[in-house]
Amino acid sequence: MDTNEVMTRQTDRPAGKGPVDSYVWRTVVDNGYDCVFDVDLTDDSIRFYHLKQFDSVDTLFCEAGGQAKNNFATHTEFRNFIESFVVPEERATYVEQFVNDFICKEIKERGCFVRTIHLFGANERRSKSVRYYRYDDEPNRLIGYMFDISAPLDHDWMTDEYARLGFIDNAERLLAEQSAEDEHYSLVYTNIKGFKAINDLFGEQSGDMVIFQARDILRTLLRPIIMGRLENDHFVLITKDEYLGEQSLRSLGSQIYNEGFKQYGFTIRCGVYHITDRTTSVGIMIDRAKLAENSIKDDTVNPYVIFNDEVRVNYVKQRVLISDMRNSLDTGEFKPYFQAIVDANTSRICSAEALVRWQHSNYGMVSPGEFIPAFEDGGQITALDKFMLDRVFEFNLERAKNFKLIVPCAINLSRIDFYNMDMMDHLLDLYSNSPLATEYIRIEVTESAYADLEKNAIDYLNRFKSMGVKILLDDFGSGMSSLSTLENFAFNIVKLDMGFVRKIGIQKKAEVIIKAIIEMSHSLGATVTAEGVETEEQLKYLRSVGCDMIQGYYFFKPVTEEEFAKLLD
Ligand code: C2E
Ligand code: MG
Ligand code: MG
Repeated sequence: MDTNEVMTRQTDRPAGKGPVDSYVWRTVVDNGYDCVFDVDLTDDSIRFYHLKQFDSVDTLFCEAGGQAKNNFATHTEFRNFIESFVVPEERATYVEQFVNDFICKEIKERGCFVRTIHLFGANERRSKSVRYYRYDDEPNRLIGYMFDISAPLDHDWMTDEYARLGFIDNAERLLAEQSAEDEHYSLVYTNIKGFKAINDLFGEQSGDMVIFQARDILRTLLRPIIMGRLENDHFVLITKDEYLGEQSLRSLGSQIYNEGFKQYGFTIRCGVYHITDRTTSVGIMIDRAKLAENSIKDDTVNPYVIFNDEVRVNYVKQRVLISDMRNSLDTGEFKPYFQAIVDANTSRICSAEALVRWQHSNYGMVSPGEFIPAFEDGGQITALDKFMLDRVFEFNLERAKNFKLIVPCAINLSRIDFYNMDMMDHLLDLYSNSPLATEYIRIEVTESAYADLEKNAIDYLNRFKSMGVKILLDDFGSGMSSLSTLENFAFNIVKLDMGFVRKIGIQKKAEVIIKAIIEMSHSLGATVTAEGVETEEQLKYLRSVGCDMIQGYYFFKPVTEEEFAKLLD
């Protein structure tokens, strides 16, 4: 049926006009639309204005011999016909939702009913967008149409690579076609570290250029047989193992983006899954490569990880830790530890940092480095940080009540905390109502967490700061956006990352940088705490260049609440 025919048939519709006559048909009855119809809600009868004759791709509406099937009497009949093509995993939802009552209810609530469904055509899986509308002046009529969105869903228009669905479908087909048994392939999942910071620093257009640059370098170095972009900065590709040499994977770790006079370093981290069984679903391969990528601890040491049993075991452990968290919080397995920080000149305790410790019933002492990233992913981190905040506050309050010495204590906040209204309200509440909190509870944000904060999260930091709370920049120098971080927010205290301190006496350059960081921080009105000071030599150097405070095993290790109380006493 062509457009003319539709327009002709439109004229023999009953009198009721409505917007449908004016523009919907004109725009809708066009290429790509599978069907356009209306449903009379009084008797469920259906009438088609457009019904595409499908050719080779899917013979959806064609009966044997290519004759269009358009003799549906009711909407239910039409719906049942479509149902037989819906992929099994979506069928139950389809049956439940594609009924007049459900559709009408949703239109009433949301203005329209829109779904994406996936159908099996003759040769492949297709994605269809199905939409229903209803017009005020014709309450008994539903307008429906369906169009094919397989191409937009399968293809990533920005990079011209496949999108997730297209990648999965085609990778499976390609792997099945690669007949040479002695060829070994791997699936690689990538993540651009520092991507968010580039977007923030240079704007989204530059972010896009970095995506292109990453795509090009991946194509050149890894020579994929197929490649796709899953979302944002994540590419997946399949390539022969011979192209996954140590050197290629390492050079992906140190990329440079140039824009005018500006330069910015970024890291393409890779998780690699060796394909041992080509019949494994590509979805599972992606999950495994992603697990491997997620398990990269320090990408300056190694920007890639190959999926193996250790990755799997660690993953299982992380899942166990996540599922045990709530219970452990209730049973007191988490405890705040305190590490005293001293004044660099007098060596007297001037403040402290609260660090969480977990004595797990099965695993024993688990380090924060293991569970904090898992809790950030799993969404439990804020409950833990709130617990720490409250415990540290109570500790100080209790001592203050008993006229004992107290010192300001810093708590570590995760990036996620700033997006949790309850946590932010809780902090605001505490700071508004207790001077003891304002002066004695400081906030540490790591450099990398800060780089990921959106504007309204930074607004909270500003509010805390204007209430008199001291804000600390943790692990300064470990991230990639160091200088811009200092430029963007007036931190009270800069905590020099352990990585620098370790190089004192070993690397002259690191010493020069430390000196410059301290001078710069002072000029910006911030004081400096050096983290991880373990030796006399480190201490001497730091003193000689004007570092204000020292944290590290040389003076104090993190200790329990009781031991810390004794220290203060
Ligand atoms: P951070 O905030 O940079 O904390 C300093 C880390 O350095 C602590 O590790 C501390 O035990 C360790 N450290 C201190 N002095 C020395 C030293 O002289 N030598 C060495 N080798 N290490 C030293 P820890 O306790 O394992 O914590 C690791 C990270 O976990 C922390 O790094 C912090 O980012 C995070 N974290 C700890 N507690 C919490 C918490 O309650 N909430 C959140 N969100 N993160 C936390
Ligand atoms: Mg800290
Ligand atoms: Mg730190």
